[in-house]
Amino acid sequence: MDHELFPTPAGVDADDPILNLPKVSLHDHLDGGLRPATIIELAAEAGHTPPSTDPEELRAWFSESADSGDLPRYLETFDQTLAVMQTAPALTRVAREWVLDQVADGVVVAEARWAPEQHLRNGLTLDQAVEAVQAGIEEGTRIAAEAGRSIRAGQLITAMRQADRSTEIAQLALRHRDAGAVGFDIAGPEKGFPPAAHLEAFDLLHRAGFPVTIHAGEADGVDSIHEALLVCHAQRIGHGARITEDIPGWAQAAAVDGVMGDVDGDGMETAPDMGRLAEWILDHQVPLELCPSSNLQTAAAASIAEHPITRLKELGFAVTVNPDNRLMSATSVSREMRLLVDHANWTLDDLEWVTVTALGSAFLPYGVREAIIDEQLVPGFARASL
Ligand SMILES: [Zn+2]
Repeated sequence: MDHELFPTPAGVDADDPILNLPKVSLHDHLDGGLRPATIIELAAEAGHTPPSTDPEELRAWFSESADSGDLPRYLETFDQTLAVMQTAPALTRVAREWVLDQVADGVVVAEARWAPEQHLRNGLTLDQAVEAVQAGIEEGTRIAAEAGRSIRAGQLITAMRQADRSTEIAQLALRHRDAGAVGFDIAGPEKGFPPAAHLEAFDLLHRAGFPVTIHAGEADGVDSIHEALLVCHAQRIGHGARITEDIPGWAQAAAVDGVMGDVDGDGMETAPDMGRLAEWILDHQVPLELCPSSNLQTAAAASIAEHPITRLKELGFAVTVNPDNRLMSATSVSREMRLLVDHANWTLDDLEWVTVTALGSAFLPYGVREAIIDEQLVPGFARASL
């Protein structure tokens, strides 16, 4: 692969076989995945001063700030990326590179989530911002195709939950549903800004049959997930890691042996008791967009080995593996998978299972998902080893 066009993701060995597995990225923020060199160049054009003008120093600044455990310092990282994403050419470039970086990570289906309302400081309209990102996605997809790599990428149009524009943003998403917008989300501070505060937007989308995922169960608990799913009709949950709070005995089981219930036997009679919400999520196979490394940085989990994703997978929950913010967490789907293999004993079969789950949950037509499973996923995993 041309490493100029498709730079090897941070934190992954260039010869790691996981890079070549066909993968799916459902939870990957556009403003959380810029290339450091791009930030420096766009900052010069925008008259903005970044924390460093050396790409590797800047890369380290992002991951150290996100690792610091200090929320204001973490949030400042997004001030830096948003500062350089305020014009149509800048949005197009960032979106184009976002797609090429997915290809470099071996991703074949990706959804770029971002909040257009955060990109209007220099006078862009919401529609112009969406069109600029779409132009970049299409350029990146075309460049990848010319290099013999196929990728399907769409936009997850996001409203900020602490703001009051969600109905307007939902209407924006609907206007662009046949032109690149594949779904809707709300992001920003979860605690204190519950999903149901945006019910008007979610009702509008539900009636229009437009796909929705909602950040829930990351910084807040079961009530937030409940609202997202059963009041606001989300089809997927962004994170959802705190569904464990609806599984009595979770913490004790984790402390004893790391495994709950007889998950390797016939299972049924020994599965742990669950609250109604956890049961609903399991029974309906609601996809959970889990982001292990990101959760370590926000202290939602203590280590990769202890992250709930592994036991949720063993219990049969529809877990998927995602990077959240590739720049801030110095990660990628390949790196998240490598960490789970090395620290939580995941096998190639586990990686295939979560990838098929993610593709089945992607906001794409059924026929497209089936074709990608048959033509890319199954053969890609069949010839792989770890
Ligand atoms: Zn997120």
